Amino acid sequence: MRRHRNIKIVATLGPSSSDYATIRALFEAGADVFRLNMSHGDHDDHKARHDIIRKIEEDTGRPIAILADLQGPKLRVGVFAGGEHELEIGQAFRFDLDETEGDGTRVQLPHPEIFAALEPGSELLVNDGKIRLKVEECGEDFANCTVTVGGAISNRKGVNVPDVVLPLAALSDKDRSDLEFACELGVDWLALSFVQRPEDVLEARRLARGRAAVLSKIEKPAAVRSFPDILQVSDGIMVARGDLGVELPVQSVPPIQKRLVRQCRAAAKPVIVATQMLESMIESPVPTRAEVSDVANAIYEGADAVMLSAESAAGDYPVEAVTTMDDVARSVESDPNYREVIEASRRADRNTVADGIVAAAREIAETTDISAICAHTQSGTTVSLVARERPRVPILALSPIPTVLRRLCLTWGTHCVSTVPLSRFREAVISGVQIAREFGFANETQQIVITAGVPFNVAGTTNILRVATCDEDLINRSEAE
Ligand code: PGA
Ligand code: MN
Repeated sequence: MRRHRNIKIVATLGPSSSDYATIRALFEAGADVFRLNMSHGDHDDHKARHDIIRKIEEDTGRPIAILADLQGPKLRVGVFAGGEHELEIGQAFRFDLDETEGDGTRVQLPHPEIFAALEPGSELLVNDGKIRLKVEECGEDFANCTVTVGGAISNRKGVNVPDVVLPLAALSDKDRSDLEFACELGVDWLALSFVQRPEDVLEARRLARGRAAVLSKIEKPAAVRSFPDILQVSDGIMVARGDLGVELPVQSVPPIQKRLVRQCRAAAKPVIVATQMLESMIESPVPTRAEVSDVANAIYEGADAVMLSAESAAGDYPVEAVTTMDDVARSVESDPNYREVIEASRRADRNTVADGIVAAAREIAETTDISAICAHTQSGTTVSLVARERPRVPILALSPIPTVLRRLCLTWGTHCVSTVPLSRFREAVISGVQIAREFGFANETQQIVITAGVPFNVAGTTNILRVATCDEDLINRSEAE
């Protein structure tokens, strides 16, 4: 089984997608990565979904990545007498640490760290930014505000504090327990919510101890400001447009998306564009024109992956949503304009032997009639570098290490296949050719480019490039000499 597109599809699992049949249907429709959202469901739910995915892997023989998304420090107001109150523009409203039920004039905000960081003039947003308040006066246990955008406020609604860096622990107690649980389960990727600084990512890496790769969700202005430093210590990035569009003016999200996608590609690290991509498909079997354009634009930009959230987790049409993304991807990627855009944004920084080898592989594929680039990899690095080139032909990622293959499922253009450990270059050629044939990437008259590193089974040694015709007899004869 193979995909006929470069962009990867991440599908969030939830109540609408919890049984074997549905998850298998999502996989067959095109989901390459499954996201377990730790904000919802308990550990038993996630374990059950994890086990189903691994069963599908076994049944289909294809590696599948699992991404566990940690909730992060969610800030919420307390509860109200009567549950809900309408806030009017211009009225005064107070947040404090008092547990007494709130009313139309005040409510508990059980986060002393917020009060410590606020200043007069700071903004507080409630309920996905629908209600906005300006801080007039504040102290260590209160903030007196004026409502600048009104609306209904109710029990435990989320709070965003966009313009201050909060002195919050990178990971809440719940995040730490979820992280350990997810690593023990054997997920491939961890996503960190509300990353503010590189130290937040380093803390998660310390706890993960290499058991899972770490992806930073960019959803705070502070993270946008220190993005290069955050990227450097992350294995991947998610442009988390939901909270980003709450914490920053919504019109600033598209330029930020474009910038982050380019920087991730330059760093050869996978980037996911996420949230509300096909939002209307939660309730409708067909997307809006604007949603199709949004997905298409992320693909033209060269993102590694597009993501479904509630569409696949809690919507009525999870499989249709994946199929829609697959259809859009095939349409965009067969547009000659797509190649032009992707190639125009390629950067030519070359510092290592591996950089040179992958650039050569891509150029050979463009110069002659090559049907795939086959990269043998120990750490996944060479495959990421080939993907950064955004070649015209598919990338076969071959490795004896299952976790490496699974992590690469998030990377643009890759088709991941497990191989036995190599001991001779001839085996690298033969296995490349066999796999290209088996999965329909080449027939016996076609040629592929093979990259590998000698000595074998050592990370970071890519130093060989070979062009081979996919005729095993021919290889057997020539390599025997
Ligand atoms: P969430 O993250 O769905 O976990 O909030 C994505 C986003 O904010 O866009
Ligand atoms: Mn978010």
